[in-house]
Amino acid sequence: MEEEHRNIPFECRRCWHVWEEDYIVRHVDSRGHESLVWLQAGQPVPPPAPGAICPRCGAQQATTFPNGYLAHHPELIPPPGPVAPDPTPLLSPVPKPLY
Ligand SMILES: [Zn+2]
Repeated sequence: MEEEHRNIPFECRRCWHVWEEDYIVRHVDSRGHESLVWLQAGQPVPPPAPGAICPRCGAQQATTFPNGYLAHHPELIPPPGPVAPDPTPLLSPVPKPLY
């Protein structure tokens, strides 16, 4: 049984918050077919997919990046440490669709 660590970047399409989640991917061989089991904190979880919940605004509109994406885009990584609360009201910068 083989395990690898993956760090999957997410981006919220509503508030543009970027974050990463750590997963352990376990390669399980079942009757000659390899399947992947995604684990977080030792518990099986669904594989990362668009639709994850944003930890900042709670929208279910997050999208994923390819593995290692943020290593090439360090400007997207938020600075470490607590971030001061943003006093501006939560207004979506995305224009509403016309239809
Ligand atoms: Zn968000």
